[in-house]
Amino acid sequence: MITGKNFVGNVLSSIGDVTFKTFNPQTNIENEIVYAEASEIEIQKAVELATDAFSIFKTISGAKKSKFLNEIANEMEALGDTLINVYCSESGLSEDRALGERGRTIFQLRSFANLVKEGSWVEATIDTADLGKESIPKVDIRKMLLPLGPVVVFGASNFPLAYSTAGGDTAAAFAAGCPVIVKSHPMHAGTGELVASAIITAAEKTGMPNGIFSNLNSSGIEVGISLVKNSQVKAVGFTGSIRGGRALYDMAAQRPEPIPVFAEMGSINPVVILPSAIKNSKNGWAKTYAGSITLGVGQFCTNPGLIIGIKGNDLSNFIKVLSDEIIKIEPNCMLHPAIIGAYENNKANMQKQEGLKTIANLNKEVAVNYGRQTITTVEGVTFLNNTALHQEVFGPFSMVVQCENIQQLEEIISKLEGQLTGTILAENSELENYPSLVSALQDRVGRIIFNGVPTGVQVCQAMVHGGPYPASTDSRFTAVGINSIKRWVRPFSFQNWPNELLPNELKNENPLKISRVIDSERTTKSL
Ligand code: NAP
Repeated sequence: MITGKNFVGNVLSSIGDVTFKTFNPQTNIENEIVYAEASEIEIQKAVELATDAFSIFKTISGAKKSKFLNEIANEMEALGDTLINVYCSESGLSEDRALGERGRTIFQLRSFANLVKEGSWVEATIDTADLGKESIPKVDIRKMLLPLGPVVVFGASNFPLAYSTAGGDTAAAFAAGCPVIVKSHPMHAGTGELVASAIITAAEKTGMPNGIFSNLNSSGIEVGISLVKNSQVKAVGFTGSIRGGRALYDMAAQRPEPIPVFAEMGSINPVVILPSAIKNSKNGWAKTYAGSITLGVGQFCTNPGLIIGIKGNDLSNFIKVLSDEIIKIEPNCMLHPAIIGAYENNKANMQKQEGLKTIANLNKEVAVNYGRQTITTVEGVTFLNNTALHQEVFGPFSMVVQCENIQQLEEIISKLEGQLTGTILAENSELENYPSLVSALQDRVGRIIFNGVPTGVQVCQAMVHGGPYPASTDSRFTAVGINSIKRWVRPFSFQNWPNELLPNELKNENPLKISRVIDSERTTKSL
């Protein structure tokens, strides 16, 4: 009997005949609830409702959107232990991680609520008319950012809350004024349904139009494909594999009306360890990196999968200590049998590559679905000549590349595929001796880290979580932080438009008291 439901707007629905269950990787058994994959009728209805809702939602004030976003946060908090328990039962992740991720999700929602309440994010820009004085007369032109329309968000397997139903992509799209249709991740359909109920309740309490949100279940790729191809969908947000993200990107580009797909995908997050840092760290970096590689069982997009240094006794010692330390760490449960299956396969494929040596491989008995951490090493020239070694192994895996010299290290960096992050471990005085290395790394990544670890993505204004392809499909945008709202808007100009008919953001009186640029000068004044 089907007990799990889709939200098609505010209606609970389950008419599809393809069913599936979620899985508890800790107990290694299926959870009880049966979900029906969304049918074509439900998909079509969700898109129609979203399209209708958009005509109202796009005119709703920042103050009202702010109330809606804050209410989602309140409703999520009100789900209490029920949400935490379902999250743990579908992900194998700990209660602490669940609480932390819920906190982050709520923080994101409230950050966007504050952003839209204040209102200056729309980048209001006014160039007033000058019909007489200038040799070329100027008309009155006023620009601001407007929402794109209905957005499809794909829930991420590795963030059941923070990058799923009411996660960063959804919060940013709502803040922008876009209705959202979530393609729920099949591994955590129950978590998704609970959060969806919080969004629907918040929408009803704050007077949002029906259709502003739908949550569709699926266990295969058909629902996602149908949504991306639907002509009323205007943009897509995705976190997951390069294969999945690229397929959706290509599909969206081939539509009669192509649309943007903001996909955050694979990354091996190179870490460069310079000679003095390795000599002087007294094994500190090796211990720190053993922790970073195994954090969340390596299931973070910022996991350090590649460490690059210059051959010698110090690097050999680093590899030994890293291997000794990582083996001491207790293994942990991965998200799903499919994820651990992919981890073991990708690791085995990597280990088959010529020249790759496995230095540490936890080989004691572990519980089913627990990931065994692995450290490998390879010569610089071998890495350069075999791009199969550059692929992400999603899990607690890392590779140390031993270069002949700094020139080889720099060549490796400059030939790497695009990455979310790059890290340099160095003495302060040492860093300034390597400007071309720093420059090469900067060209390949979205965020550069000095003497730290890439894991742990702070949610703040200055954060860039993105990077050159294949880290993301568009390196001009971030997927984390309030600036991620820019993915869901487009610039729009009004020329010579009557003041009383302009949006409040652009009216002469500046009724919202937002910061604007008027004739090239930033000001909160009225005109
Ligand atoms: P995924 O396979 O990329 O799937 C993510 C979502 O996209 C799922 O909802 C999936 O639908 C959908 N999808 C995948 N391929 C599609 C296609 N060709 N057309 C339409 N929809 C498609 O990622 P995952 O399930 O989260 O994990 C699998 C692997 O992805 C991991 O082992 C890991 O390698 C990688 N991953 C990387 C990151 C990262 O941040 N770098 C994060 C998460 C996962 P269905 O599941 O319904 O089929």
